[in-house]
Amino acid sequence: MPPASDPPQGACIFCSIARHEAPARIVHEDEQTIAFLDIFPLSRGHTLVVPKAHVDRLTDLPPDQYAPLMSTLARVCRRVEKMSRHYNIGINQGALAGQIVFHLHFHVIPRYEDQPTFPRHRRGITDQEAVELAALLSTDASPPG
Ligand code: AMP
Ligand code: ZN
Repeated sequence: MPPASDPPQGACIFCSIARHEAPARIVHEDEQTIAFLDIFPLSRGHTLVVPKAHVDRLTDLPPDQYAPLMSTLARVCRRVEKMSRHYNIGINQGALAGQIVFHLHFHVIPRYEDQPTFPRHRRGITDQEAVELAALLSTDASPPG
């Protein structure tokens, strides 16, 4: 039984779009990737870049698909730059991070003059926190199992 965050492929909206069974405004497609407009855009031109293979998260993506996905991401970014040279690229990974579609996707979100983007006020970081975090992030996770 798959976990709730990993729907069977038949129930996945992005798999349906990749199979051309659900409607989408597709802006790029090749053998391994597809890019289409977000149906509830955060800004004009908000685009999703998606591997056709159903994986929930980046860490599940087979490494031979990194390059095609990155290539499509860069292609979409170049196109978005026709609209704005300011944009965010993001992945929401996990429900607590705001993921609602559990099929890996990059968001490319153009930013325009009239839109505030990030909160200006951020908490600082102590040296000790920085040392601990850098140590944690400097080594690879051990493989599961
Ligand atoms: P996330 O929160 O990262 O999982 O984002 C999922 C994104 O998919 C949201 O921005 C939705 O607006 C978008 N979305 C959901 N269903 C569709 C759809 N059928 N076509 C295009 N975008 C969609
Ligand atoms: Zn899927």
